[in-house]
Amino acid sequence: MPGTDWEGWLGARCDEQLDAARARVADLKAGSRDAVATMALWNDVNLAMSNTLAVAELISNVHPDEKVRSGGEKAEQDARRLLTEIGLDRELYDVLSAVDAEALDEGGRRVLTLALRDFRRAGVDQDEAVRTRIRELAERETEVAQEFSKNIRDGVRAVHLDPAQLDGLPGDFLEEHQPGEDGTVELTTEYPDYVPYMTFGKDRGARARLLHEFLNRAWPENDALLKELLELRAEHAKILGYDGWPSYDAEVKMIGKGSAIPEFIDRITEVSEEAARRDYAVLLARLQQDHPEVTTVDSTDKAFYSEVVRRENFDVDSQQVRTYFDFTKVRAGLLDVTGRLFGIEYVEVPDAVSWHEDVAVYDVMSAGERLGRIHLDLHPRKGKYNHAAQFDLVPGIAGRQLAEGVLVCNFSRNLMEHDHVVTLFHEFGHLVHHILAGRHPWARFSGVATEWDFVEAPSQMLEEWAWDADILQSFATNAEGEPIPRELVAKMRAADDFGKGLYARTQMFYAALSYNLHQHVPDDITAAVRELQAKYDVFSYVPDTHFHASFGHLEGYGSGYYTYMWSLVIAKDLFSAFDRDAMFDTEVSFRYRDRILAAGGSKDAADLVADFLDRPYGFEAFETWLNEA
Ligand SMILES: [Zn+2]
Repeated sequence: MPGTDWEGWLGARCDEQLDAARARVADLKAGSRDAVATMALWNDVNLAMSNTLAVAELISNVHPDEKVRSGGEKAEQDARRLLTEIGLDRELYDVLSAVDAEALDEGGRRVLTLALRDFRRAGVDQDEAVRTRIRELAERETEVAQEFSKNIRDGVRAVHLDPAQLDGLPGDFLEEHQPGEDGTVELTTEYPDYVPYMTFGKDRGARARLLHEFLNRAWPENDALLKELLELRAEHAKILGYDGWPSYDAEVKMIGKGSAIPEFIDRITEVSEEAARRDYAVLLARLQQDHPEVTTVDSTDKAFYSEVVRRENFDVDSQQVRTYFDFTKVRAGLLDVTGRLFGIEYVEVPDAVSWHEDVAVYDVMSAGERLGRIHLDLHPRKGKYNHAAQFDLVPGIAGRQLAEGVLVCNFSRNLMEHDHVVTLFHEFGHLVHHILAGRHPWARFSGVATEWDFVEAPSQMLEEWAWDADILQSFATNAEGEPIPRELVAKMRAADDFGKGLYARTQMFYAALSYNLHQHVPDDITAAVRELQAKYDVFSYVPDTHFHASFGHLEGYGSGYYTYMWSLVIAKDLFSAFDRDAMFDTEVSFRYRDRILAAGGSKDAADLVADFLDRPYGFEAFETWLNEA
């Protein structure tokens, strides 16, 4: 890494890698060679592309200098353009499809199979007319999708409330929401206004007004756009020989088949019925104490009364909780916990060059051997990526380059919310996955290279270690050095568990919407929303609203919204192999490390899970979790 000239270093690094990728593609197309040599060149192409994308995406999100960030964005665009070009290269496809798979080892065969599948999915093997149509469809899909998302971003609405209607909101919220000249307070449908108001605002009528605006964002302009997008995707999938977009999309996911999506949704709906009804009754009863005339719960009251129930029934004081989560101790605890769990050690590298002085750098060691390096960039600053995520810096390749990964988060330097502690463990799960899976010869298998609907499962599972009282007590101590009380952790868990059945049902409504709209494009999308909400959600449809117009995931996730719940089901199944009373049993955790994490993308996720559990994945652990009160 550079000393000071980041812009120059980044440009040189990306240019060198992209040139290498282009040169290897040219080599592949130039001469004939044996299967092993062909696949070695293809691996070099993949490696050069991964190297470029990793560093470009990272730097464009974290570097303090805006000019360097723009350089990263440009490098990423160059890399994406080249990737598209490679993916549509008929000549290259012909070279790879001529490779004799029998002459390859298992890894090579898998890399070849995946590459040919990707080429076919892009339509490279189709005749010219079809390829032209696919290009037109893809271009229009991108345009429509961008406009759909832009309308949501720009479609901010507002209500104006009397200051008295802000009763219930915390002090800092009130401070930031002073009345304007006309004496009213403006609240917008943006999350920083919407979420606190729906959670804490005591005025039910005002909540209903804000909700109505929220559920009508980008209406009506996005209705026709969505319909066009759905129709474009349907044609795109059908022209490639699929029965619809869900089948096309699911082919590269762990779920495997489009038809498995509605089966999954119906199964989760069924198993969450009891838990959902139980929690719904609690919410409705509490709502009726204040409003005896109301007979159903909808989103007007959902967040507000969930909060009331958590406060009244579980008595968790979040101010008190925070005193146990000092950032420095939490970070040390995280390294200690994951080190024990995975048999690794973190050795700080104090003089490592970095893009910012906040970044802590550690070498990851196992039995004296260096596996890779992690960079923890955990506090907010101007111009930095403002969520929490893991980024790659270098993909690890056996004998060629060590894995380096980065956590980019925005935590307080002092006391943390417990939610943030859970997030830290979650994101660290991706980081450790990246490092441990960094020792394959094939770039295609390196790091978090499994199917998209599986990648969250290891991280969701690692969250369990941030909820265990014994483990929390090992690092969560207050200023006096007292560990967090076990009773407090139990109450935190109970409060967190409340509403999980309700959550599952709402998620299945979203998942069903995402699947059904793509499988059978309806004439009247609002009618489909009403119908699917009635079937899957336990909360009622709010009259005269059009949720789909601002359901942004329909753009990015397409028919795959189910993935959130899918990976949670898998996470619970993975966790079932651990004994809750022996969370550091290394016989289990090392097997998990070797068979799930270190395996990277070398096998299908379903096979990884079966290797670890010694049986196919199942729903039982999730069902048990859902129904334990
Ligand atoms: Zn994640």
